[in-house]
Amino acid sequence: MKVLKFGGTSVGSAARMKDVAKLICDGEQKIVVLSAMSGTTNSLVEISDYFYKNNTAGALERINTLEQKYVDVIAELYATDTYKTEATKVIKSHFEYLRSFSKSVFTLFEEKAILAEGELLSTNMFQLYLLEQGQNSELLPALEFMRIDKNSEPDTAYIAENLEKFLIEQPGKTYYITQGYICRNFYGEIDNLQRGGSDYTASLIGAAIKADEIQIWTDIDGMHNNDPRYVEKTTPVPFLHFEEAAELAYFGAKILHPTCILPAKLNNIPVRLLNTMEPDAPGTLISMQSKKGTIQAVAAKDGITAIKIKSGRMLLAHGFLRKVFEIFESYQTSIDMITTSEVGVSVTIDNTKRLDEILNSLKKLGTVTVDTDMVIICVVGDLPAENVGFQAKAVNSMKEIPVRMISYGGSNYNISFLIKSEDKKRALNALSQGLFN
Ligand code: ASP
Ligand code: MG
Repeated sequence: MKVLKFGGTSVGSAARMKDVAKLICDGEQKIVVLSAMSGTTNSLVEISDYFYKNNTAGALERINTLEQKYVDVIAELYATDTYKTEATKVIKSHFEYLRSFSKSVFTLFEEKAILAEGELLSTNMFQLYLLEQGQNSELLPALEFMRIDKNSEPDTAYIAENLEKFLIEQPGKTYYITQGYICRNFYGEIDNLQRGGSDYTASLIGAAIKADEIQIWTDIDGMHNNDPRYVEKTTPVPFLHFEEAAELAYFGAKILHPTCILPAKLNNIPVRLLNTMEPDAPGTLISMQSKKGTIQAVAAKDGITAIKIKSGRMLLAHGFLRKVFEIFESYQTSIDMITTSEVGVSVTIDNTKRLDEILNSLKKLGTVTVDTDMVIICVVGDLPAENVGFQAKAVNSMKEIPVRMISYGGSNYNISFLIKSEDKKRALNALSQGLFN
C-alpha cells in the first residue's frame, strides 16, 4: 500500500480538494494524509494568541472570519443539499468547540487542542466529499494511533500496533483518510509533530505499515537543484539519496520537512515528491540509490549566528572542545556547522534563545566573536574524497564571495559554506553557474 500526503495548498480550496480526490481515486488502496487547509494553522495560532492574552473579542472575531472561509468552501465543494447540511453540521461543531475556549483558563494544553482543529476540519470535509462521490473511503483518527513519547519522539511501536487495529476494524476500504501533524503525547493529551509535521506523519505511517512508497504532494515539481526564489531556471532533481535529501531538507529546501526522511530511510521506503498542479511530472524520488559522481543541488539556510572562540589554551590542550560543546548542550542549543583550527573553533547555531547565556559561559574559555545574520549554503551530491575535483569546483564557484566558514568531510554528501546573508543571492547564482551549467 502507498501513503500519499497532501499539504495545505493542495487542499487549500474546494477546487483543489476536488483535484486531490481525482488524483487519489484510481481504485488502488491507499492511506491519504492531509494537512489543514492553507492559512488555517496560522489562524489557529493567532486565535490561541488572543486567548493567551485574554482578548476574547479578538479571538472570537478571528474564529468568525475563519468559519466564514469554511462556509464558503462547503457551498462550493458539495453538489447535494444532503452533504452540504452534513458538512455544515460538522464544521459548526468544530467552531463551537473553538469558541468554548473563551470560558476556560488558557494554557499550552488548550493551545494544542486548538491547533489540532485544522487537520480535523480538512479531513472530515474531504471524507464527506469522497462519500458524496460514492467512493469507498474511511477516516482513520490520527489522535487514536499517532503518539509521541516522553521525549516527544514518535512511539513507533504504539503507532504500528494501533494503526493496524484500525485498518483491521475497517477492512475492504479503498481510501483511508487521516490527519497529518496531530497526535497525542505520553500523557494522552492532544499534541502535534511541530509545524510542517504532516510530512512526518506520512513517513511514520509509511514506516508503520511498511508501505511500498510514501508520496509527498505539494505545489512544486520535486526538489529543485537550487532555490527558485533566488535563481532563475532551476530544475527538479530526479533522484536523491536519503542522505542528500536529509541535508537539503535540513539546510533550507522548504519542500520537505527534515524529520520526514529518517523513518523512511530506516525502513528503506522510497519517498516521491510530486506536484498536485502537474501530476504527470516525474518529481523527485528519494531512496537508497544515489546518482554517482554528480553534484545534485544547492540550498540555503537563513538566520544563522556564527560564534568563534579563540584561545591560546586550546593549543595542544585536550578537552577544550568538550568544554565548548558542554556549554551549548547545557543551554539546549544545537550546533549546525563547525570548523576548527589549532587556536580556535567556529560554530553556528540557528536558535539564539539562549545566546547571551552561551556567550557569557564561552567567555570563560577564550575570546569570543559573534556574527549574526549569516547563511549556510549547502552543496549536496555524491562527494566522497575519491571524487577528485568536486570540492574544488564548489569552492571555485564561490571565488567572488567572502566565505566565513567551510565544512567538508562530515558526510560523503555535503560541503557547506557560511556567508553573510547579503551575499546569499550572489552565492546561489554563482554555484548554479559553476556547478550546473
Ligand atoms: N498544518 C500544519 C502546519 O501548517 C502541519 C502541516 O501542514 O504540515 O504547520
Ligand atoms: Mg509542508
